[in-house]
Amino acid sequence: MSYTVREPYSIPAAYQTQDSSEFERKALLNAVQADAVVIGAGITGSTLAVHLCESGKSVVQLEAKVPGWGGSGRAFGSVVPCHKNSEEAIIRHYGEQRGTRLIDALAHGPALVSELLNRHNIDAAFAGGGWAFGAHSKPFYKKLQKRAEYWQARDADVEYLNASEFSQVIGSDYYRGGLIDRRALSVNPYAYAKGLFKTANQLGAKQYTNTPAVNVEQKGNGTWRVTTPQGSVECENVYFCTNAYTKGVWPGLEKGFVRVRGFGATTAAIDPTKLADILPQNHFITDTRQLWSGIRKLPSGQIHLGVGGPAMGAKGKADLKVARQRLKDVYPAIGSVEWGESWSGWIAVSTDQFPRIICLANGVWAAQGYSGRGIAMATLLGRELSFCQGDSEREALILPVDKKIPWVPFHPFSPLGAAAMIGLYGIQDAMGDRNK
Ligand SMILES: Cc1cc2nc3c(=O)[nH]c(=O)nc-3n(C[C@H](O)[C@H](O)[C@H](O)COP(=O)(O)OP(=O)(O)OC[C@H]3O[C@@H](n4cnc5c(N)ncnc54)[C@H](O)[C@@H]3O)c2cc1C
Repeated sequence: MSYTVREPYSIPAAYQTQDSSEFERKALLNAVQADAVVIGAGITGSTLAVHLCESGKSVVQLEAKVPGWGGSGRAFGSVVPCHKNSEEAIIRHYGEQRGTRLIDALAHGPALVSELLNRHNIDAAFAGGGWAFGAHSKPFYKKLQKRAEYWQARDADVEYLNASEFSQVIGSDYYRGGLIDRRALSVNPYAYAKGLFKTANQLGAKQYTNTPAVNVEQKGNGTWRVTTPQGSVECENVYFCTNAYTKGVWPGLEKGFVRVRGFGATTAAIDPTKLADILPQNHFITDTRQLWSGIRKLPSGQIHLGVGGPAMGAKGKADLKVARQRLKDVYPAIGSVEWGESWSGWIAVSTDQFPRIICLANGVWAAQGYSGRGIAMATLLGRELSFCQGDSEREALILPVDKKIPWVPFHPFSPLGAAAMIGLYGIQDAMGDRNK
């Protein structure tokens, strides 16, 4: 029996760094005690472990595979200061007070990531000018202009550029305009996740890899016992930070979201004379399409794309034909390219795309459902979970706490529903392309 989701792809080679200070990890082989058990060593789990250690708690962190094995080690690496849903939609969903708090927290997300990187000496951020968010079709020019005005009124370093200004920034005249958001960051997400894991270790967390939690049960005295294949931990609080890789440990937890696959691909290193004209100020691009549109340069001289592919099932491959066409559309001068590698990872999508903090029982907590915008969110919710203990949370969390696992209608059929939605998005994107 496996207690995490099957993941056939390795962590991309493009994200592997030579870290000479890497230290050995071990599996848990005995019974131990701690104030808190953190399950999962992605960005959520390791941020949480850092915060719990800093607040004086004794922490055991369990990882089924290796740190960064989940979405955190496979993400495109854009750290953006906003949610997928618009600011109006956030206020509608959460109300004025909580919604504003979430919008402000997200706006501060990249700065929070930067602050953690600097404070803990984690080398994961790529130099660059921020986020170039292109309007891929006519209706979106106005939308992005309004968005720029919204953020400028809040003193954010954001501006809308017309076609010729935008083309100078990205080195392509593909878009008729777009937004430049200099608050955003481009990171190596695997290096970030590993750096946080190492920081938690330095702060005193006891960490065990290749050690899945297989069972969580309450003892007579109200404390919890987390069992692993060869050991166990007794503790006051348990935190599920397993997100899209959640499987089978807490009844129904993985039914609170729909699991879909996202893909990434890199080219081989590009001729430096051609590369100089592509994203000359090192921004990363995404655009107003609903499906994958990310393009960025890696320090290795490769180009990295967010790519589509079969959204369901573990075995599918990145759609390199579409990726090649996208590169050709935006950068025709690049000519033919060799691919480096492609990979995939699971994403936990909630029905309304909003993430959740869930109190599963007195002392058992989870954060999940980031819907593909998870690097800043995982950093934020790792911090927020550290304020959740027993059955109560600190007031003024950025999200309300769900007392039940969210209900996804017809969950067993959700792969079909998600595939249909993705098909529909593809059609809408293609229609938008024709309406440039
Ligand atoms: C292809 C792709 C591209 C993406 N691009 C972006 C992007 O550009 N920007 C952005 O913000 N977000 C992006 N995301 C989303 C982002 O990567 C995730 O939302 C975020 O990394 C989730 O972090 P996490 O720590 O919550 O979960 P994960 O990183 O998935 O970590 C969960 C961990 O739990 C472990 N685990 C599972 N079960 C157990 C168990 N029983 N016991 C112990 N450990 C267990 C897993 O092995 C895993 O290491 C992308 C995701 C993918 C897949």
